[in-house]
Amino acid sequence: MTQPQKIRLASGRYLIKDPDRERPASANSKVFSNPLARLDSVAANHRNDEPIRHALVEQAGLTGMKVLQIGAGAVGWWTGLQLVAMGCSLTELDHDTVQKENLEAGRTFYPPDSIGTPKVLAHRKYLLQMYPHAHITPLRKNTADLSDGEIAALVESSDVVVGAFDEGRQLLRFDSLAYWLKPVAYAFFHRQARQASVIWTRPGNSPCLRCSLGVESEDDIETLHRESIMGIDVQPVANMCARVAMWLLSASTGPLQELFDPEKNIIFMENRPSETGLAVHFLQADRNPTCEVCNTSF
Ligand SMILES: [Zn+2]
Repeated sequence: MTQPQKIRLASGRYLIKDPDRERPASANSKVFSNPLARLDSVAANHRNDEPIRHALVEQAGLTGMKVLQIGAGAVGWWTGLQLVAMGCSLTELDHDTVQKENLEAGRTFYPPDSIGTPKVLAHRKYLLQMYPHAHITPLRKNTADLSDGEIAALVESSDVVVGAFDEGRQLLRFDSLAYWLKPVAYAFFHRQARQASVIWTRPGNSPCLRCSLGVESEDDIETLHRESIMGIDVQPVANMCARVAMWLLSASTGPLQELFDPEKNIIFMENRPSETGLAVHFLQADRNPTCEVCNTSF
């Protein structure tokens, strides 16, 4: 068997090229237009005295793009941070207030004096300290209290949605309202946060959330309110969700469009070491041919 070859990138890093999976010459250029390589290259070429964030964001074309995020819990705290750091304009919707347990185990960095205040306001305050010029719109609302029309209007006014909430009924309702309007990236934990998933839907292009979860009704989705999730398990899935959102945002403009296999729309992440390590699996969801949400033949 031939040994994989190393390819030197402009940034000085190496990609491993497997000759057993040789690409045609025209496709080789894609190695260099790979979005990660491109961002790498931008970072490496940047002078130390320039704000690197701006170059990365400009390259990815994300400055000012609008993200609607539902949920400002542990996952939402981190996804919101990453999206704002990338230069996105964030509208964050959550009705809850910061509780003491939100600050424990590295789940969030809500400051202690924010306990009892609305999460969306506390999050905005923190993010503005980090990024004073960020555009952040807090909405202290519960999706359950919004009409279908209000939810659709919020989705319509965004470029991409992040679903960082886990209430089954509202998740499936949101999916049915948002699926045909805008791309959505959802983050989920499995029991005891042993695994986590990021699922994304693209209008008419991927199966809907209901099909991707393989559920018949809201009763098949368990809300894990009593689980004591550690921040060390939250951050990987939140960051992956932000990365997927970044890919969805830029899919229409080009530079990051090949980050993931377009046929797949689930990333299943192992949070506990096993014989396969901390594995990340890319999965393809099955579309239910009679689905009321994503079936295109209705
Ligand atoms: Zn479906």
